Order: sequence, then C-alpha cells, then structure tokens
Amino acid sequence: MKFETRAIHVGQAADPATGATIVPIYQTTTYTQTSIGQHAGYEYSRGANPTRTALETCLASLEGGEFCLSYASGMAATSGILQLLSSGDHVVVADDLYGGTYRLFTEVASRFGLRFSFVDATQIDNVAQAVEATTRMIWIESPTNPMLRLVDVRACAEIAQKANAALVVDNTFATPYLQNPLDLGAHMVMHSTTKWIGGHSDVVGGAVITSDPELSKTLHFTRNASGGIPGPMDCYLTLRGLKTLALRMRQHEKNAQQLAEFLVGHFQVERVHYPGLPDHPGHDLAARQMHGFGAVLTIDLKGGEPAARKFCESTELFSLVEGLGGVESLIGYPWAMSHGSFPAEEKKAKGITEATVRLSPGIEDGDDLVDDVDRALKRAGGAS
Ligand SMILES: *Cc1c(COP(=O)(O)O)cnc(C)c1O
Repeated sequence: MKFETRAIHVGQAADPATGATIVPIYQTTTYTQTSIGQHAGYEYSRGANPTRTALETCLASLEGGEFCLSYASGMAATSGILQLLSSGDHVVVADDLYGGTYRLFTEVASRFGLRFSFVDATQIDNVAQAVEATTRMIWIESPTNPMLRLVDVRACAEIAQKANAALVVDNTFATPYLQNPLDLGAHMVMHSTTKWIGGHSDVVGGAVITSDPELSKTLHFTRNASGGIPGPMDCYLTLRGLKTLALRMRQHEKNAQQLAEFLVGHFQVERVHYPGLPDHPGHDLAARQMHGFGAVLTIDLKGGEPAARKFCESTELFSLVEGLGGVESLIGYPWAMSHGSFPAEEKKAKGITEATVRLSPGIEDGDDLVDDVDRALKRAGGAS
C-alpha cells in the first residue's frame, strides 16, 4: 500500500467491541482481567493503551519501521532514547540542533555521565573523526533547524555501523512523508509529532521508530519504567493529524517553494535558506535522500535586528510563535526564541544572526502568504 492509504488504514480497523469506524479514545487507566493474568494484551495504560497502539502501528508503517513508541513530547522521546545509554558512553552530535535537544544533552544528560561531542556534520569527515572507543550513538537532524542544512544520512549510518554505534535521526523537519531515515541505514528515527505530524498546533507529542527488536524492547522497558507516555486523547489527535499528513505536506511545501522564490529576488532580503532552491548547498543531497524539500524556509534580512524584529511582528497571516508545522502559517525569531538557549557565539557559528527569521508556511493560499510577507517587509523597511 502507498503512504496515503497506510495513513488512513494501518492500525485503524473498526473497533472489535462496537464496530466504531474511528479508533476510540480509550480513556481508561486499567483493564479488567477475566482471571488472574488473563487479558487482551492491555494491563495498565502506562504500559499500553489501544488508542496509543493505533497511533504507533500507523506511524511505524509510515516511517517504514517495525516498531514505534510514542511519548508525551518530542523531548520525552529524546529522553527515552538517551535512557538506552549508560554513564561513560559518548555521543557524537550534529551541532546544528534543536535548542531543546542541546539543552537536554548539555545541562541534564551530561550530569548523568554521558559525554557529547558537537560537530559540523555537513562535513562528514568531522563525524568520523569525532568517534571514540566509547561512542555508542550518533545523533543528527536533517534538514537542520533553523538553517536547513543537509546531513548525509547514509554516510552517517555507515560511520555508525563501523563504530558499533546507533544512528538516530531527528526527522521532525522532513516528516515521514518526505524522508525515511531507516531506509538510509539509520537505527532509530525520532519525531516531535507536535509539528507537522499532529499538524494543527493543538497537541504535543513525540515518537521513536526502529526496526531493531532489541532496541524496541529496551525502549519499551525504559518508557514503562520512567513513564513519559502520551495520553489517549493526545494519541487520538495525533492519529487524526497523521491521516492528512501527505495532503498537508504537499501544500506546505508548495507554499514554502513559492515564498522562497519570491524572497530570493527581494531587495530587503540578504539571503534565503531553502533546500528547494538550486543554489542551496544541500540541494543535491536533499534531492537524493528526501522525497521533497520540506516546509520551512529561513531568511536573513538586510536591515539587521530592527528589521527582523519588526518583520516578525508585522505579518498578519503568519503568527509569531514558538513552534512549527501547523496548518496556519507560523513565524519565529530564532535568535531570541527557539535558539535563545544557545550562547551567542554558537548561534553565530551556526549562521543564526540577529537578522534571521524562520518561516513555517501553513496550508493557506500561496498568493495570500506572499502578499502577507510582502506587506510585512514594507512595514519592516522603515525599521532599518
Ligand atoms: C520541536 C522539536 C523538538 C522537541 O519536540 P517537543 O514536542 O517540543 O518536545 C525536537 N526536535 C525538533 C527538530 C523540533 O522541531
């Protein structure tokens, strides 16, 4: 079955008890046993819940994996993956990274004896050189947030394989519709389902997908032991979002490409970062390892910080938020918002400046979005 069909049908047969066509929200903590130890596979909802099972079965299929575990948030999913490691283990991390992941690694996990080396993974040799005898994991994002750099997933998988380490890909920005890292050799895929998978800015969640039974078993054990599960209502909402992921991604991407092409020629814009532009440094790699170019574009404005701030505050269709991936268009100022937790020098090293603005176009009409951005640029023009 193709992606669109799996999104609607996998894990979502009619409810055996009632015939309900839509997977019910099993708002229950526990399950009545017919005799001691006799049950239908569900004992207590921290361990398993049928609404969650439906979401996980569908999401595993869309990523091309065997197993999926969902979590209360993307960060809970990341924490779950870290719990595969032990004190003294070393992780090689692509340094162009979601701010919350950086914070978890450097300020929380490091206190438990895990060691992290941050490298520019767009140069693949840096990844190989950072591997040590105790390296157990390689962690990358591609495309990266917010500069949309591309990391070669297959090359990282080969390095991981040789080092006997696991490659984890945070696939949030690409979504399973546009990229399937397991097919490229990755061992685990992590998602913040809060973004395009949920897709409607109304539910926080995370997921890990793998085809390795041992990894899946340990992840299940540690999730049940530590408890970072999503509730049934959240699973229902995420599954509902998942059904239209393909339709939404096509429109998000079309709008991103249209905006990128409009902004490239704009006199107030210094630079447009979008993998769909032929002169983007990751364009060819994106064409090879993705099924599209994604739904985020980042721009640097000529007028510096005043223009960037004014621009963010002047759009009407784009809401100024911490977040991405909603059906409504979203705009953010990485310097002080999503990447506020990075030191200034590190932001600069990543290419994030006071003039950088990140756009997550929704599924509105593309011409309307171009008009909105054009008007906001005019307003921002006076600020510089
Ligand atoms: C949002 C995000 C996360 C964290 O997910 P939450 O659901 O907010 O906890 C991790 N990685 C990326 C790339 C993200 O965009």
